[in-house]
Amino acid sequence: MTAVSGLKGSFPLTAEEIDKQIKFVAPGVFTLGNLKDDKYQTLYVGRADKNLKEILKKCLRQTERFKFMLFDDPEDAFKKECELYHLFKPAANRVHPPVPPTRDWRCPECGFKG
Ligand SMILES: [Zn+2]
Repeated sequence: MTAVSGLKGSFPLTAEEIDKQIKFVAPGVFTLGNLKDDKYQTLYVGRADKNLKEILKKCLRQTERFKFMLFDDPEDAFKKECELYHLFKPAANRVHPPVPPTRDWRCPECGFKG
């Protein structure tokens, strides 16, 4: 089965590459992964409600590569994160993507609301 994330990448998970790829301070979704037989294997999915670049830079060295997508609205980033979480069931995601305490978002896949 080939699952398609719709994200940009993959790119090497380095500070230089993050700066090159992400030019704006914006919410976003990302995955971390490694190449296996030249195929990107998604190991983790995450999101940033304010600044994707800053969050990604905290993930350096966890995997070899990353993918990402920027959003204007953090709720849209959350929905995409949920979609990818349920699609890939990444090994490093031990719990469902969280909903910030001040929001009333719901996972479009399973109804999870924090
Ligand atoms: Zn869900």
